[in-house]
Amino acid sequence: MSLIVTKFGGSSVANVERVKHVAGIVAQLYDQKNKVVVVVSAQGDTTDELIEKALAYNPNPSKREMDMLLSTGEQQSAALLAMTLEGMGYPAISLTGYQAGFLTSSTHSMAKIRKVDTERVENELDSNNIVVVTGFQGMSRYDNITTLGRGGSDTSAVALAASLHADVCKIYTDVDGIYTADPRKVPGARKLAEISFDEMLELASLGAQVLHNRSVEMAKKYSVPLEVLSSLEDKPGTIVKDGIKMENMLIRGVTKDENVARFTLHGIPNQPGTAFRVFSALGRKKINIDIILQTPEVDGKQDITFTASAALKDDIMRVLTEDLADLNAQRVRCEENVAKVSVVGAGIETNPGVASTMFEALRDANINIKMISTSEIKLSVIIDQAMADKAVSAIHEAFFGN
Ligand code: ASP
Ligand code: MG
Repeated sequence: MSLIVTKFGGSSVANVERVKHVAGIVAQLYDQKNKVVVVVSAQGDTTDELIEKALAYNPNPSKREMDMLLSTGEQQSAALLAMTLEGMGYPAISLTGYQAGFLTSSTHSMAKIRKVDTERVENELDSNNIVVVTGFQGMSRYDNITTLGRGGSDTSAVALAASLHADVCKIYTDVDGIYTADPRKVPGARKLAEISFDEMLELASLGAQVLHNRSVEMAKKYSVPLEVLSSLEDKPGTIVKDGIKMENMLIRGVTKDENVARFTLHGIPNQPGTAFRVFSALGRKKINIDIILQTPEVDGKQDITFTASAALKDDIMRVLTEDLADLNAQRVRCEENVAKVSVVGAGIETNPGVASTMFEALRDANINIKMISTSEIKLSVIIDQAMADKAVSAIHEAFFGN
């Protein structure tokens, strides 16, 4: 007998048919003599609809009341799934985040899980119930309902799996696993049987949008094996865990991130403390920087170039032109038409050939590289945004064939 925590996202529980289908999957796990916990998201677009609804009542509602409202989305799907299971003759009970023991910080709309008191859930499991728990929500120490941030149900599921010492946390979604590239764009993309937490974290933050980043960080911290699999088709997904063998695969995947902009301070003094001034001014505004490049000095002047999220463009330009006005930059520039394309894999560290394969593929596709950055398990280039899809396909083909 295993203890299994499952999680079903909004599209997997969008309507009666889907909920019945999910109930079937859950019932099968239960029939195989497992203890089963199910974490659910709100049905379909319910969360978005509730946000829109709120704005009709008050264009500027408090975050506390928003959490009160949004948490009802998950409460509906939990109750509906439990009823469906009951109707099929299975013992099931739904619990809110509070009832399931989710204690969080009090930062409404972005609460962090502090701990999960699993006593109630364990009691229900001991009574042979299937336990359906609302994702995305908890309770602060002031007894207010909180939510964990959009997409937070993955994190709810992993936190519960960690606290219950579950054998596995199965994340059912509308894709059937993690691929070597976006399968909608790269026809030769392959499904990975396994991937490590670190590789998954790199893929997730590079735009692979399958699992919420926080949930992968938590799974790594508490060593909770994850399986990402389809709620629509019955086939094995991708296992995300520690310490996996490389099976001759140098890299795991190729991704792109178009939400990137490049910023340059041209002609600033080359003297001790300049870089510190630039990046501490940005740090004070909580701006995360990605790749940094400093050019060699010419006549006592240098350029500093860096990339960051394009969404932060206005804040960054304000820091560069106002807070750093006394650096007397000859020119301050922002380029938004760039993208970051990366290869990810634990094999990068030990295989110097990865870089040349990637650069060769870019050369053959006649794509110019603007910046390069490397880490143990990732190699990224900044290129023209218009070339991003072509670059991903070319690099993918170079490593995986087509
Ligand atoms: N229902 C919430 C959202 O749409 C949480 C989740 O789906 O994970 O963001
Ligand atoms: Mg959702």
